[in-house]
Amino acid sequence: MVLPLPAPVVTALKKASDELADAGTFRGYGPEQGYDFLLNAIAGHYKSQGAHVEADEVFVSDGSKCDTANIQEIFGLDNVIAVTDPVYPVYVDTNVMAGRTGEAVDGRYGKLVYLPTTAENGFDPELPKGKTDIVYLCSPNNPTGAVMPRASLEKWVKYARENESILLFDAAYEAFIQEPGQVHSIYEIEGAREVAIEFRSLSKTAGFTGVRCAYTVVPKELKARNDKGEFVGLHGLWLRRQTTKFNGVSYPIQRAAEAVFSPAGKQAVGETIAYYMENARIIREGLGQAGFTVYGGVNAPYIWLKTPAGLGSWDFFDKLLNEAHLVGTPGAGFGSCGEGYFRLSAFGIRENVVEAVARIKAKIA
Ligand SMILES: *Cc1c(COP(=O)(O)O)cnc(C)c1O
Repeated sequence: MVLPLPAPVVTALKKASDELADAGTFRGYGPEQGYDFLLNAIAGHYKSQGAHVEADEVFVSDGSKCDTANIQEIFGLDNVIAVTDPVYPVYVDTNVMAGRTGEAVDGRYGKLVYLPTTAENGFDPELPKGKTDIVYLCSPNNPTGAVMPRASLEKWVKYARENESILLFDAAYEAFIQEPGQVHSIYEIEGAREVAIEFRSLSKTAGFTGVRCAYTVVPKELKARNDKGEFVGLHGLWLRRQTTKFNGVSYPIQRAAEAVFSPAGKQAVGETIAYYMENARIIREGLGQAGFTVYGGVNAPYIWLKTPAGLGSWDFFDKLLNEAHLVGTPGAGFGSCGEGYFRLSAFGIRENVVEAVARIKAKIA
């Protein structure tokens, strides 16, 4: 990411830092889940998006990477996990490290259920054949840039309700959705509060990649069975996990995060996102004109391109590096179904994006 923090965020960060310099306003340990001012701002933001989330169902953290990585700790090791392929690697690797998977064969781990997400199914994963216990979904998607249609999310909520599955919904890129009517939160879907946990981050939304602040929602209706077959609330389990292992995000960062949801903050963040999405348009349209098959880039800051002439992802990486002096991310790094694809990011400076597209047109197409 190249654009600086929005001005209202920096103002809030400085003011809160000054408060810590004064004995009258100094703060030490805060609530592990986050200060009320931020929890209320987040709940209000959900409300404005047509989703019902209570302030005390929000858990503020230092990142969605940690949250999507740590969430598996509250589940038993015998749960069957489903992931899309390609996938954000954190979901897979943390389950491997926890010992929930079998041997790796040809880049795929035993016991994991892989859901191919390719051009053939419109980058909209099909339901697993049988019951799975935990399903990781990411929309808008990293790496494919696809957003899951409302009808598809309704289908997943129905599946989860019928199979007593838990959906782990990663909405780190929801703020990049441009098309009206697309789903920003899983809680816009009826019945989702009983089956889904949602993760959101200010990293991509507001340039917080280095500042670090994210949040996770665990609705109080959400339950899963323990080994005795009794239903247990996941809100209480996650609260216990966080209060045991985490002491909260620092006060100035939470004030900075609060500013993201203020009218001035929303305005500034909207401008930053518009800049990146214009980059995405330039890449998507430029490569399309050059004859590439491109996906994504409409509701997400990623363009997912089909490598030309059946080149492998890494062959295309080498070609791009050697012939155009550009780098991107080989699709194969996100899973075996990413082979033959390549991810380009819109998080660049405009003139570099324009130059990169010109070089691809001149040297690669
Ligand atoms: C970047 C990203 C995150 C957010 O990570 P942070 O730890 O909040 O910076 C979460 N999920 C996906 C899919 C991402 O690409």
